[in-house]
Amino acid sequence: MECPICYEDISAKDLRELSGCKHCFHAECVGNWLWRVPNCPLCRAPVAPVAPVAPVAPGPSMAFVLARLMSIMQNYADAVDPAEKEYKRATIYRMIEKHHLMYDNRVITALNRYNLPIPELALYE
Ligand SMILES: [Zn+2]
Ligand SMILES: [Zn+2]
Repeated sequence: MECPICYEDISAKDLRELSGCKHCFHAECVGNWLWRVPNCPLCRAPVAPVAPVAPVAPGPSMAFVLARLMSIMQNYADAVDPAEKEYKRATIYRMIEKHHLMYDNRVITALNRYNLPIPELALYE
């Protein structure tokens, strides 16, 4: 079985099945997600809040990542050279993927502001 968040295999010992919708994830992947958003990442069914298993990104460093992402988006908007613009655009999506920010409302709002397409889960297919 594949984890829909990181697309890697889930072994029985780190499997977490959500009680409502029965979607399955790595306990750590979905734990980090549910720590911020109390809904299933796939179908948005409400999930009772749980303590994160191993938060890879506590508050301050997530704030740092967001600030950095916003500044790269501003650079993207300001860039006139097409090659530079493309490089910034790729950097933005790499950061969103790396930090699992594709559902973050602040990121979505900023993408809209700079006319960048919203990354879907299809980003990883
Ligand atoms: Zn995973
Ligand atoms: Zn679900």
